[in-house]
Amino acid sequence: MSMLKFQVAVLPLILAVLCGACSKEEEDQGHSGTNETNSEPYVPVEVISNAHTVTYLEPRTYIIEETQSSQGNVCYLILGEERAVMFDTGAGENTAVDGTRMRYVIDQITDLPVTLLMSHFHFDHNQNISEFDHVAFMELEYLVEGTSAEGVYVFSDAELVSGSYPASVEVNEWWPPDTDIDLGGRSIQVVSIPGHTDESAMIVDAQNKLMFMGDYIYDGPLFVFGQQNLIPYQTTVDMLIANYDDSFSIYGAHGTPQVPHGDLQKLKDILVCIDEGECIPSMTNMMGYLVQRYNLNGMWVWVFLE
Ligand SMILES: [Zn+2]
Repeated sequence: MSMLKFQVAVLPLILAVLCGACSKEEEDQGHSGTNETNSEPYVPVEVISNAHTVTYLEPRTYIIEETQSSQGNVCYLILGEERAVMFDTGAGENTAVDGTRMRYVIDQITDLPVTLLMSHFHFDHNQNISEFDHVAFMELEYLVEGTSAEGVYVFSDAELVSGSYPASVEVNEWWPPDTDIDLGGRSIQVVSIPGHTDESAMIVDAQNKLMFMGDYIYDGPLFVFGQQNLIPYQTTVDMLIANYDDSFSIYGAHGTPQVPHGDLQKLKDILVCIDEGECIPSMTNMMGYLVQRYNLNGMWVWVFLE
């Protein structure tokens, strides 16, 4: 959930860059970002949609912006040679095309099997979940324990924040944190980044220096639900700064997709400032919550008091 959610709620409504960058050298070696030497160069697809802006990101990655959504969500489709990963399914407000929403976009791009991983469980990241028949969860102990013997996970109202859809999902695959997931010629890892929510997951493509971070950090005020979650937020930012230098490119789940790497340090600075009591918030009310709004060097953190 992001600021846009509240703008809408208060109203109140609840709801390619084409491969010009491919170097001659990359073409000679096969598609970039893999060790494959016999592969044909990948030719990006130009997606047609009246509800999305789809941009190609080297290598074999598509940025899918829900430009007509009240949430301004950004989802990512990450392709290997044997399987693909969809990172979030969006806010579901776009007009259905041929009975599908996100599938309409995906089907233009690939016929590989697609596994869905949600960055977290807030309602604006999973509204097209019924279009996915293979879902992976990050293997956190409490999520495993909360999943039935039949593999069904029931979402709580608190996890969704708004609405009651999706009520549940069948979990088909568990991905241990910090472990390579082979997509065929490309590996990713899921990394636990608690703070925005406990289950928040990041996808890292270490070889290609890409980080997809959901709502932990994006282009806009960052939401912290309860002062107690400032602690994991800070622990996570310390981990991120220690492990991922500025050779990595960061992509968020709302607004302008790419986030400057320097925003991690700005986030650390404001979290320290809040922790030390040196940042003074402005107060506001939103949706029945008292909200502390902190601002330092252009970085905003909004703490929703419970
Ligand atoms: Zn969220």
